[in-house]
Amino acid sequence: MIIVGAGIVGASFAYHAHQKGVNQITVLSSDLPGDKNQATTNTWGWVNGYAINDKSYASFRQANLNYWPKLINEISNLEYSSKGAFIWDLDEIELHQTIKQHQSWGQSVKISTKSELQEHLPNLINSPTFAGFGIDDLAIEGVRATQELFKASESKIIKANVKELLCENNMVTGVRTDDEVIYDNEVVITAGLGTPDLLSTIDIHFEMRSSLGLLAYTNPLPSLLNHPITSFDFHARQDDKGRLIIGGKFDDDASNEQNLKETAEKLVQDMANRLNYNGKMVLDYFTIGSRPLPIDGRPKIGRLVSLKGQKIYGIYLAVMHSGITNAPLAGKLGIDEVITGKRNNLIQDFFPQTFYKSENFQDV
Ligand SMILES: Cc1cc2nc3c(=O)[nH]c(=O)nc-3n(C[C@H](O)[C@H](O)[C@H](O)COP(=O)(O)OP(=O)(O)OC[C@H]3O[C@@H](n4cnc5c(N)ncnc54)[C@H](O)[C@@H]3O)c2cc1C
Repeated sequence: MIIVGAGIVGASFAYHAHQKGVNQITVLSSDLPGDKNQATTNTWGWVNGYAINDKSYASFRQANLNYWPKLINEISNLEYSSKGAFIWDLDEIELHQTIKQHQSWGQSVKISTKSELQEHLPNLINSPTFAGFGIDDLAIEGVRATQELFKASESKIIKANVKELLCENNMVTGVRTDDEVIYDNEVVITAGLGTPDLLSTIDIHFEMRSSLGLLAYTNPLPSLLNHPITSFDFHARQDDKGRLIIGGKFDDDASNEQNLKETAEKLVQDMANRLNYNGKMVLDYFTIGSRPLPIDGRPKIGRLVSLKGQKIYGIYLAVMHSGITNAPLAGKLGIDEVITGKRNNLIQDFFPQTFYKSENFQDV
């Protein structure tokens, strides 16, 4: 099996393929975990179940919340950095509605009061009156998780740019990199924002959006925030090294920022003013990452069809935002589908192409 893309999604496919007995896995990727062009390198790493007014996506996210701890258990050097996260980036009515909606879908969320917040976040100077609390939410270090999943997958990882997918009679037979042609009867595309270009080489039009996310990292600090927090104009958590990772308004687009370093310094300064801490807190570095956004915001996972509606064999796609949340089951259920041909209900709504209808398939 060839996997194109060595971010968290590719790592989950490689890991689950290995678990299912696929013994020759080659991963080709222009960037590796930790390289600055990867979304995974630049992630905030919050695993959560929220998908307002989208029950099937919320169910998939919650299933990933349930699965992450099992995955962590299987892999010796993998841990989560914190469990449980607070949100108060909605007005009070919307916050209560959101929590109620997700509870009615069976999710592990609740409303926390100011006194509960003060107990869980003792270093935060001003707590809101109410916050939503995702009981099973996690913080995961994206690069580390990706590296550990790859290690456990025993796959061969090659730093290479894939220029073209090779396809004959609706059958993908391999890939052409800058240096060589590699043949295989199964190519999994986990290439994030590289997906539209790759699919265009087999005449598939696949649109994506993107936005830029800026995150400021402080110097390592003593324990100040036990849980990720998301307010109206900032979000912050502490990573496995004790650094605070601070962003502005959640999902904000930093494309128009004139001076990223100054903005990052201000994020740190503002955060320092919100916390009871008298020691040194400074900007150590910042990251700027492009979010891989499918057009409708939902993950895209599955087989592809040609413009004529014919099934294309030998290729499987998985691309998504919230990949830290979604990668575990995208990889597990994706590999199950690749191997057995059966599609799990949890991913039933996430076909890559909206015009896809399984009954319209014309086998070649
Ligand atoms: C600022 C920011 C904050 C985020 N916060 C969160 C969060 O809190 N929680 C959450 O769940 N998600 C979050 N996300 C989203 C999450 O990080 C991404 O959804 C996830 O990392 C995507 O992983 P991926 O493996 O699909 O893509 P990537 O990590 O981008 O990996 C794709 C790989 O494919 C390679 N590639 C592309 N084209 C080619 C080609 N032609 N040939 C060879 N290789 C190729 C690239 O080099 C890259 O290594 C955030 C993202 C950003 C940017």
